[in-house]
Amino acid sequence: MKTGLVILREQAGHETGSHPENANRFPGVLDRLGEDSMKHDLPILESREALVEDLLRAHTEYHVENVRAAAENGPTWLDGDTVASPHSYEVALRSAGASLVAVDAVTGPEKSADSLFAIIRPPGHHATADRAMGFCLFSNAAVAARYAREQLGIDRVAVLDWDVHHGNGTQDILYDDPSVLFVSFHQWPLYPGSGWIDEVGVGEGRGFTVNLPMPPGSGDLEHIEGFNAIAGPILDQFNPGLLIVSAGQDGHVADELASQNLTAAGYHGLAQASAEFAASRGIGLVALHEGGYNPNTLPLLDHAIYAGIGGFAPDLAGDAPAPETEEIGWHERLVQIRRIQSAYWAV
Ligand SMILES: [Zn+2]
Repeated sequence: MKTGLVILREQAGHETGSHPENANRFPGVLDRLGEDSMKHDLPILESREALVEDLLRAHTEYHVENVRAAAENGPTWLDGDTVASPHSYEVALRSAGASLVAVDAVTGPEKSADSLFAIIRPPGHHATADRAMGFCLFSNAAVAARYAREQLGIDRVAVLDWDVHHGNGTQDILYDDPSVLFVSFHQWPLYPGSGWIDEVGVGEGRGFTVNLPMPPGSGDLEHIEGFNAIAGPILDQFNPGLLIVSAGQDGHVADELASQNLTAAGYHGLAQASAEFAASRGIGLVALHEGGYNPNTLPLLDHAIYAGIGGFAPDLAGDAPAPETEEIGWHERLVQIRRIQSAYWAV
């Protein structure tokens, strides 16, 4: 499976100061994934700026203009935890644009890779159609999904979001759209508060939003079980022409923004399962970086994902140990998820 990276050289231009989502998250990641790329002879592509028309497939004109103007006059707080600084608009265009570079490269007869991992910030999955929130300016995943649909003519696109927070923005944009399946694993309850099992889509989009709210304390086992029992079978039945992964690593046991117990092996397993699904269908896979806020562990976690989608052996030495498994109510939750989803899918 040929994989590679899309990188955003201008990422430090989105200045957020001492905020958890800051320019210091990625230097260590890029060093480690750069070594992997050299060792396995994998391509490293450069981002490009998305066009305003690309953003407008997912966002309102009001929102795009609001972010542009806020950045120009920045630093400005767009919500309680989302800042725009003078170069944030350009960097956000490149963050979304990196997603489009990745989609272009893994699709079509001229495709140059089976999968690509875009190391991008600002992240995207909390940005709704008309507002920035939760460190996110534009929903890179929704922009990429709509581009694949409308620009490349791919009939069905799936978005799998394993960031520890619910991808409320991506869900909001795609909620009534039956051509894009949105599947989210997230800790519940946790910011932003949405993502309960009964949020399944609306109108023609009913049944095409799949939420797996994971109890606090969930780790590798629960996530892999959730993939095998719910996400995998639904992806199979939906039969997409492209798989987009919103890859946030803030569910790691050593990440302080949540209380999940995933390890590097768990992220490797999720990435590998996603890549095996894509390979079994002969479709492209694009992983877009979302959260992950411990700069000491993020290089290892992103390496685990890169190895998982690329099919090379990971080196997971140095990972933090997961605590002993406790009874957290996961099996009862899985029964509830299955009961809701069985109205739409064979699960
Ligand atoms: Zn997150």
